[in-house]
Amino acid sequence: MSAPETKSKSKPLGPIPAGFGVADGVMTIAGTKVTDIIAQQGGQTPLFVYDRALIARRVADLRAAMPPRLALHYAMKANPFGPLLREMAGLVDGFDIASGGELGMALNAGLDPARISFAGPGKRDVELQAAISAGVTLNIESVTEAERALTIAERIGINPRMAIRVNPDFGLAGSGMKMGGGAKPFGVDADRVPALARAIVDTGAQWRGFHIFAGSQALSADAVIETQAQTLELAARLAREAGVGVPHLNLGGGMGIPYFPGDTPIDAGAVGAALADRFAALPDELADTHFAMEMGRYLVGEAGVYLTRIVDVKTSHGETYLVTDGGLHHQLAASGNFGTVVRRNYPVAIATRFDAPATDEANVVGCLCTPLDRLADKALFPPAQVGDIVAVFCAGAYGASASPATFLGQGPAGEVLV
Ligand SMILES: *Cc1c(COP(=O)(O)O)cnc(C)c1O
Repeated sequence: MSAPETKSKSKPLGPIPAGFGVADGVMTIAGTKVTDIIAQQGGQTPLFVYDRALIARRVADLRAAMPPRLALHYAMKANPFGPLLREMAGLVDGFDIASGGELGMALNAGLDPARISFAGPGKRDVELQAAISAGVTLNIESVTEAERALTIAERIGINPRMAIRVNPDFGLAGSGMKMGGGAKPFGVDADRVPALARAIVDTGAQWRGFHIFAGSQALSADAVIETQAQTLELAARLAREAGVGVPHLNLGGGMGIPYFPGDTPIDAGAVGAALADRFAALPDELADTHFAMEMGRYLVGEAGVYLTRIVDVKTSHGETYLVTDGGLHHQLAASGNFGTVVRRNYPVAIATRFDAPATDEANVVGCLCTPLDRLADKALFPPAQVGDIVAVFCAGAYGASASPATFLGQGPAGEVLV
């Protein structure tokens, strides 16, 4: 009999996105060594670095893949960093916001309110009023929200721009986060939409059409294609039943990025080709419609890197721990505590030994006093020392703004667009 397996099996890391280089063994972002970027920021770690050229290339590639008739919107909850928002303003056709706070950030960044739409359940009266005053399109989430918006609009004497967010009877198959299909806090159930659309149009409000968002983080082009076909059919049917036009149709997004071992990029070309076919054979109700897709992580997720410094290297019961000055308070998703059931490793590397062979198994942990604070479990890395910089990839979306930065009194990480 063979000896029992005693050595633990290393766990794989997620795929490192394309676009990062190496110089003298040190990882580069936009051609600059991460150590120099950190030095330029006064030596501050942890630090989020966003590469504007990678974002621009992603948007350009997506435009090339999609029919020209399709507008691209940025869902700013993925990353509301001011310089990044201003960069996006020159790249995309519109913005989707989900709170009054995001409205303020968008207006501060100089974004044109006419290109902004506001979705999200639980819009407060003050948020509705601010959005109506600014001329932002409201994606109405319920009959009662429509009533509140119309009342406020009448009181302040502004004709509101209103679309209805539809809760479709289908979800996006295989998506990380289903946002449609069955009971949901989002949108108006499809069967109640015609009456509401009719009522809104009858008030004389500026009717903007429908917003149908079925899910997020899909890597299957077929799933997105199928969902878009259903979305177009649903929008046409609702318009027919309501007897209203569809000036705008926001098709949602859904395109995801590879985070985990075995994930492969979605085939944007296939999604675009299928959409072009659909646009070539639209039902009459949608013949003059402006179409948009809204995306967050697909546009910016892979262009961001979280850099954190190793402050201690220790062993416990034979395992190595690389203890960093960062953690889940900035990178909740990488720790496995943001919408995942089974924790898997994000792409993580020792940025200061970027081209050295990965020979040693180690755990990368954060500095928080909780066992949840893990950045990589039992993965192979080059031998690392105190002072080395760890890079956590796919940090451009749902990092800084979707993590509990004040936990344990830590405070936010630095952020820079290069
Ligand atoms: C979160 C959200 C998005 C962005 O999702 P991503 O997965 O980052 O592309 C788009 N639209 C709506 C309505 C959302 O809630």
